[in-house]
Amino acid sequence: MAFENLTDRLSKALKNLTGKGKIHEEDLQASLREIRLALLEADVSYATVKKFIANIKEKAKGAEILDGLNAPQQVVKIVNDELTALMGEEAAPLNKSEKIPTVIMMAGLQGAGKTTTVAKLAYKLKKEDKARPLMIAADVYRPAAIDQLEVLGKDLDIPVFSEGTDVDPREIVKHGLKEAKANKNDYVFIDTAGRLQIDEELMTELKDIATIASPDEILLTVDAMTGQNATETAQGFSDALDLTGVVLTKLDGDTRGGAALSIRDVTGKPIKFVGQGEKPTDLDVFYPDRMASRILGMGDMLTFIEKAQKEVDEKKQAEQLEKMRQNTFDFNDFVDQLKQVQNMGPMEDLMKMIPGMAGNPALQNLSIDPKTFTHMEAIVSSMTKQERENPDLLNPSRRRRLAAGAGRPIVEVNKMIKQFDQMKKMMNQATKGNFSGMEQMMGG
Ligand code: GDP
Repeated sequence: MAFENLTDRLSKALKNLTGKGKIHEEDLQASLREIRLALLEADVSYATVKKFIANIKEKAKGAEILDGLNAPQQVVKIVNDELTALMGEEAAPLNKSEKIPTVIMMAGLQGAGKTTTVAKLAYKLKKEDKARPLMIAADVYRPAAIDQLEVLGKDLDIPVFSEGTDVDPREIVKHGLKEAKANKNDYVFIDTAGRLQIDEELMTELKDIATIASPDEILLTVDAMTGQNATETAQGFSDALDLTGVVLTKLDGDTRGGAALSIRDVTGKPIKFVGQGEKPTDLDVFYPDRMASRILGMGDMLTFIEKAQKEVDEKKQAEQLEKMRQNTFDFNDFVDQLKQVQNMGPMEDLMKMIPGMAGNPALQNLSIDPKTFTHMEAIVSSMTKQERENPDLLNPSRRRRLAAGAGRPIVEVNKMIKQFDQMKKMMNQATKGNFSGMEQMMGG
């Protein structure tokens, strides 16, 4: 899995903070040190890491989080926002020319995934936009590159223009463009040659092709597995060509993640797509915010935190947290919690945002009837003041009375009391920084 180690280290660094109501300066410093090391070990460039940490410090100071109630969550959010900003904020769409064809030229080292990406991207446009692309095979050096493109073209039913390996690539491109105009292809992809390392001759050839084709996009293909080298390569290509964007390939592999994090910073060019497998369909639009959450191992935890921050009454929350710590959380608090959760939207959507929950098969067909909340409230409102404050009083005969009072079956009363007990136990553990109870409760 890509980013595994980085994700692990970052979550650990942030976990040191969560489970605490307030953050002390030294806790924050310790977490930032951990984050810094984790990024460096993931091959993020030194300059990028330095800037990144400085930004987080600045933001954390500005937000005066140290005394805040939701301080740990705020730090997580700041880290996430900075990761997102580092990778470019918004998804960057493919450039499109006013007149046809839109010309997309690939560049990159040998083996980075240019040929594969040309086919993937052409296929994506064909499928999603009903485009009629033409792929030009201009890599005359790598043995089999032309065959490879022709085979892909045949499989995907996308035409390929090739003139074998004996014609100069500049000529091939000229002829290919002419053919595209004649056939009214709306997109042209140019698969260019790569080398094992950047060399002068290759750069001259690529510059010439760019002059001939005046492409709307020059996409640099970068192998995410090459770590620190990936950023150096990107820098080299960026110096020679007017790159418009980057495709990061092999993110399905065991990459440490540095390339994804530094490339934008180093080249100033957005990552537009990511390759996540060898199949023609394994290409995705790059969303910096989703990638940041993925790197932090958070699913959509941040949306969850944002929603929670919007809906939750902070003062009440602090009181309840304190009650949980002292183990005096009662049914009145339980109903308050239910109401707050209800205000946040459908329960099944919320659960999916919790890390590790999104892919949980138990949630696939889950839907929680909003009436359940109303029924729970009805049961609690049948309780006496003493029962609400001291749930241990709820013996079988009292439970029968509650069922009758709320007009609900006795099994439902029992179930709710059990859930209350579980919640109490889980919250008690969570306030001590142990989240495994949450997974147990969710059946994870
Ligand atoms: P080129 O020399 O830049 O044209 O590279 P190729 O397109 O031939 O790709 C080199 C190898 O990487 C091939 O075996 C591809 O199947 C593989 N490859 C390309 N993109 C990806 C990707 O996103 N994930 C994986 N797992 N393999 C990829």
